[in-house]
Amino acid sequence: MSTASGTPWPASAVRDDDGALVVGGVTAPALAAEHGTPAYVLDEGEFRARARAYQGAFTDAFAAIGAGVDVYYAGKALLTVAVARWAREEGLRVDTASGGELAVALRAGVPGAELGLHGNNKSDAELQAALDNGVGRIIVDSLGEIDRLADLAEARGVVAPVMVRVTTGVHAGGHEFISTAHEDQKFGLSVNAGPDGGDSPAVLALLRILARPSLKLLGIHSHIGSQILDSAGFGEAARTVLRLRAHLGVRTGVLVDEVDLGGGYGIAYLPQDQEIDPRKVAHEVAQAVAHACQELGTAVPRISIEPGRAIVGPAGITVYTVGTVKPVLVTADDNSTFTRLYVSVDGGMSDNIRPALYGAAYHAEIANRRSEAPLALVRVVGKHCESGDIVVHELMLPGDVQPGDLLAVAATGAYGRSMASNYNLLTRPPVVAVHDGASRVLLRRETVDDLLALDLG
Ligand SMILES: *Cc1c(COP(=O)(O)O)cnc(C)c1O
Repeated sequence: MSTASGTPWPASAVRDDDGALVVGGVTAPALAAEHGTPAYVLDEGEFRARARAYQGAFTDAFAAIGAGVDVYYAGKALLTVAVARWAREEGLRVDTASGGELAVALRAGVPGAELGLHGNNKSDAELQAALDNGVGRIIVDSLGEIDRLADLAEARGVVAPVMVRVTTGVHAGGHEFISTAHEDQKFGLSVNAGPDGGDSPAVLALLRILARPSLKLLGIHSHIGSQILDSAGFGEAARTVLRLRAHLGVRTGVLVDEVDLGGGYGIAYLPQDQEIDPRKVAHEVAQAVAHACQELGTAVPRISIEPGRAIVGPAGITVYTVGTVKPVLVTADDNSTFTRLYVSVDGGMSDNIRPALYGAAYHAEIANRRSEAPLALVRVVGKHCESGDIVVHELMLPGDVQPGDLLAVAATGAYGRSMASNYNLLTRPPVVAVHDGASRVLLRRETVDDLLALDLG
């Protein structure tokens, strides 16, 4: 796997005799010829290897402290019927966060019992779909949702299995994690006491669930952030959740069976990045859980985690065709000048919003040939009517990059297609799986006819 080398490319990525990029045994020029560009290319072997790596690492680390583990693939990172099947075949369950994601997972044949449903603002229709399909856990996110779900379950004569999403005050992302008293964001229920010093929203939610016979309280859920490269935050959040679990146990006699520690495991986007090591983080979190439970005098709960990006991110690349190449003379702060080569590709912020949304950094390479040309300072941009339409902010590429070249961007498997838009009425690119030298379309490219079909005139 690419863990050790720190490369953002799938482990299968090599260059052929012509210097063309090969992924999953298929060359970038062959992919472009068969499927067009831009195209998301997904290495099935890499996805499966990563699913197994997380499943294995957490299962082993928690077996050592006597706890069982469930790994839920966070479908919001990228969900297609085939992707959901791969996850299931590797022993993972699937987390969904909308009625649409739920429908795709069900279409893939994932049993409802192996699905989770998230969301801070689930509609009645989404809650009903979860109940009607026997979704294994509905992660409630507000007090109002608890009542709504209890009423819907009661009306159907079923018992809804629920977890409560809490905010632990640990928020992590990138390299830092900070522990703050109160969080100012929309997700979850705080473990901190209310303004009057009374019960926290999290405790109130747990008590309210226990009071409703149409709800079954499975456990407590915490998700601390995304693209986390420092494992310390996960242990910190686990301790807080386990204290809350013990508090509820003393208070009500109900020691919940399960604790979910969410996703957020960080990956390498750039050649110099080092992704989080699943074995290391699993071991650290297991030790934190064992320690905390020992101190609290409680049994160790079943643990679940929800990686999305870490499973699918590095398995995906995007292949573009270069169009315009434009040298731009730039004046720096000290009045010196330099040339930046603007390389325009046939997609952009509609297929990868992350640079514009988060300032996310990516790595790209010419994918159809090798070049010995001296490197030039490049900015890869898209074709949208927006100057912030940037794919790669800053990159050194061979200075002979030219119209017609293929450009591959690494690590676009997560939150690329799933966040794609039709801005400028571009049609969303296909997702093409590669494996053992063959390619297969998982999601076809949208067509202008698809767009026109939505427009009722
Ligand atoms: C987004 C999200 C995940 C997945 O996050 P990744 O960074 O892709 O691992 C898991 N759980 C919840 C609740 C989420 O919101």
